[in-house]
Amino acid sequence: MPELPEVETVRRGLLKYFPNKKITDIKIIYPKIIVGDPQEFVDSILGSKVSQIDRRGKFLLIRLSNDLTIVSHLRMEGRYSVETAGTQPHKHTEVIFDLEDGDRVFYDDTRKFGRMQLVDSGQETNEVKSIGTMGPEPTEKDLTSDYFYDRLQHSKKEIKAWLLDQNNVAGIGNIYADEVLWLSKINPLRPANSLTKEESDFLRKNIIEELAFAIKNGGSTVHSFVDASGHSGHMQDKLHAYGRAGETCERDGSTLVKIRVAQRGTTYCPTCQK
Ligand SMILES: [Zn+2]
Repeated sequence: MPELPEVETVRRGLLKYFPNKKITDIKIIYPKIIVGDPQEFVDSILGSKVSQIDRRGKFLLIRLSNDLTIVSHLRMEGRYSVETAGTQPHKHTEVIFDLEDGDRVFYDDTRKFGRMQLVDSGQETNEVKSIGTMGPEPTEKDLTSDYFYDRLQHSKKEIKAWLLDQNNVAGIGNIYADEVLWLSKINPLRPANSLTKEESDFLRKNIIEELAFAIKNGGSTVHSFVDASGHSGHMQDKLHAYGRAGETCERDGSTLVKIRVAQRGTTYCPTCQK
């Protein structure tokens, strides 16, 4: 599932091709991708241009010149790509945006769980409930040390499950939850409110740094992620815990084990993650 670094990589890829070109045609091959009336979606967008692309957590906010915003969530397997004129849809292409210069923006989704919703720009926090309740972006400025510690103190959830809850911190999914807990030497089963202030600060720092590092590396290609220009990310080569069950911990040589926490596969080191 694409997490914050992967969605940010898609955003940066799309920014090179999508903006400032009139959208001349839209084809919706799988209508359930669209929240609301698909024909109204098409009619409202046709003739406008993308003016900016923002991101909030794992949501892309595609800003249009007519003050509407396409809120796009990739969910499990959603993927954008930019194709040249005349390129035929792929097997799993679900939505096509044709641009005035002939470029085609494809939205592919093998699992068909992704969604697009058209809202008035600026109304996404009111119109999309999970954006309205979303926690801060994992940046130095937005995710303050006090907020993070205070919020941890109010939950008995396992810390792994707590990190996956977008209402606590935006953008973390299964990959980076395992990674930041390994980096912070924290056992994924610990109750959130058992973390000391020192552990909380260390975890917060690792979240901010790890997600920035993953963005710099173009995200992970786990689950066949590729960016809009067809380039793959490199982050999957830099993971310490996620997907490495049975391999040795880089810190102490112990065998990494896989358990289930909150119905999600969770890999950690039983020796150094206390
Ligand atoms: Zn270890």
